[in-house]
Amino acid sequence: MRIKLDRTVCDGFGTCVVHAPDVFSLDDWGYPSLAAGNDIAAADEAGVRRALLDCPAHAIVDLGDPVPMPAGGEPGMARNLGPDAPWTKAANGAAALPRLGSVLVRDPTADTDDDS
Ligand code: SF4
Repeated sequence: MRIKLDRTVCDGFGTCVVHAPDVFSLDDWGYPSLAAGNDIAAADEAGVRRALLDCPAHAIVDLGDPVPMPAGGEPGMARNLGPDAPWTKAANGAAALPRLGSVLVRDPTADTDDDS
């Protein structure tokens, strides 16, 4: 589990520290920080999820699990480049990646009226 703590919306109620004291710590002004970073250990997940649900300011965001980098790929693309993703296959079934800047053009000879 990976989380983000948005201190700009935090109201400093301290609920997160009560639920996950090993993950959140309060500063001198009563606002939390992530004591051990954004990656949450499995042992702390239950407390963090409770803190996430109870945070009245929605200042804690679940970023999900880190996505492993595929061989030869970029980490951010791992979720979308599966072999079954519909846009990764060309009309003939061959693997194809979408081209940036490609434009769909309407065929002017195609009959699109339904009044036949
Ligand atoms: S529970 Fe939410 S609002 Fe309260 S201190 Fe923690 S992050 Fe801030």
